[in-house]
Amino acid sequence: MKREEKTRRLIQVFFLVNLLQGYLWMINGTASRYIRVEFALSEATLAFAFGLFALGSLGTLWLSRQADRHGRRRLTLLACGAAPLLALGSALAPGIVSYVLVQILVVALLGLLFTVSVVVITEELSDEERAGAQAWVGLASGLGSGLVLLFVMGVIHLPGGWRWLWVPVIPSIVLLPRLRRFMPETGHFERAEGLGETETSQLRELLQPRYRRRVFGVLGSAFLGNASNVAAMTWGMYHLLENVSMSQAQASGIFALGGVLAVLGFPAGGRWSDSWGRRTTATVGSLVSTVFAVAFFQIPLASPWLFGLLAVTFGVNGLFRTAQMIAWRISATELFPTRLRAAVQGLAAVSAAVAAVLAQFATGVLAEPLGGLINAASVVTLLGIPAGVVFWWLVPETAGVRLESAALEDEAALAHVGLGSNLGDRAAHLDRALEALEATPGIVLVKSSARYETDAVGGPPGQGPYLNAAVALRTTLAPRALLDRLLEIEAAEGRFRDGVRDAPRELDLDILLYDGRRIDEPDLQVPHPRLHQRPFVLEPLRDVAPDLVHPVLGETVEVLAARVRDPESVRILVP
Ligand code: ADP
Ligand code: MG
Repeated sequence: MKREEKTRRLIQVFFLVNLLQGYLWMINGTASRYIRVEFALSEATLAFAFGLFALGSLGTLWLSRQADRHGRRRLTLLACGAAPLLALGSALAPGIVSYVLVQILVVALLGLLFTVSVVVITEELSDEERAGAQAWVGLASGLGSGLVLLFVMGVIHLPGGWRWLWVPVIPSIVLLPRLRRFMPETGHFERAEGLGETETSQLRELLQPRYRRRVFGVLGSAFLGNASNVAAMTWGMYHLLENVSMSQAQASGIFALGGVLAVLGFPAGGRWSDSWGRRTTATVGSLVSTVFAVAFFQIPLASPWLFGLLAVTFGVNGLFRTAQMIAWRISATELFPTRLRAAVQGLAAVSAAVAAVLAQFATGVLAEPLGGLINAASVVTLLGIPAGVVFWWLVPETAGVRLESAALEDEAALAHVGLGSNLGDRAAHLDRALEALEATPGIVLVKSSARYETDAVGGPPGQGPYLNAAVALRTTLAPRALLDRLLEIEAAEGRFRDGVRDAPRELDLDILLYDGRRIDEPDLQVPHPRLHQRPFVLEPLRDVAPDLVHPVLGETVEVLAARVRDPESVRILVP
């Protein structure tokens, strides 16, 4: 499949996934008053029940960890398969207890869908495509939420009422086989898995000096920013109805306008993240949206143009809030290595959930001393200022930086290994050596050469010809650990050294090059000291790395190979 085609399909799939996500996310907030009536709850019990939903974020964290261990594909499929079932469970829940239990799972799953979407986009799309794609899926989620607001008017009069909101999700299960077919595993995940990083990764790696600063930046700004947003969003409508004494229609008009501008924040956030950078967009977004949210609450009620001022402040807040969200999202996925990328999103979900609960609590506590809910909400909203500052201060810019470098993931070295065999079933020895290398934690094969049949050089007379090959591999093993592993693989193929120089062997594995390193120790020399004299090494090496420069001789493999080329004694085998 062509690259643009692949990108387009990927964005389409995640557009649908996020439409579903945004739709499901909005149901409880929209239907809260009907849920209260149906289950005959007091306001306090309703608030408590809804508060319990936040426990789902712990599930999101756990599931996100699984996406780092077992792959993005599997967890996306799991979430997309489970969502319709949970929707069915929600629609049929007989009482509040079962309803809350199902909702905790729903919240866990929605968090996971969000996590895998942003992670797959970051990992699969190029630097130029990434910001735009994040904006698209954000937009999809916003549209999904909007659909709930439309549907609710249609279903609320039917028997069963709000329960019908869950129903449109149920048929989406039929899309699962298609999704299964199309949904790829990301190249980054496969590579990290090949390096053995996915099973061994630990959350506490995030506290190592390498990632510590940025993890505090990302989670700290998520915490403060979400507390601010929750205070601003929860009390906005209340303010318009109770204090400004607007009609419901006028208040809804202001919200609709704010909604439109908030939607524009998605493409704006994507665009700005590329042109100004993620850091500037997230910080400016936090600061501007906070200032306008507080202004919205604090405009004197006697002002001329009150309606217009409220609309403008609410709208600007929405625009910059969404732009900030997008920039945060792009940045937060780029800053961490594949093995921890989804987990950081899971931690952010927990951090945001805790912030939401604390924000409500703090608003309640501050209302009395500050002379009213709106003043209390304004103070909590001001946390958006430190949210922006923390981000600016602790998070490095990642616009225009390769993903591996942004995520400080470049530690795997590029090494080249030569393979040779002239005893027994030569091809089988080489095959098994490649399998053993591939199966080694800390090694991924990048490229293999063709095979060459070569006349034996040196050693006892009458030896059979060799089969030679070379591979490029990425490894987190240090040179000596790599050598030990090579000797182990040689031994497993029956290699036995009796001290005879250049004796025939079942398998010979040599480190030819390891990054640009020079190592000169009694039992390990890199680059391999005879590399440049041996056509049987240089020809296969040329297949995998013609342009690589020899760190001592300063010439490319291509040039070195041409200098000693000997087609009579080094014969390529048709692969
Ligand atoms: P060769 O490959 O030169 O014919 P052997 O395979 O018998 O020789 O290796 C003998 C020793 O060479 C190994 O035990 C290893 O310690 C040492 N050695 C030094 N440098 C390298 C290297 N770059 N790759 C592999 N072995 C090396
Ligand atoms: Mg050797």
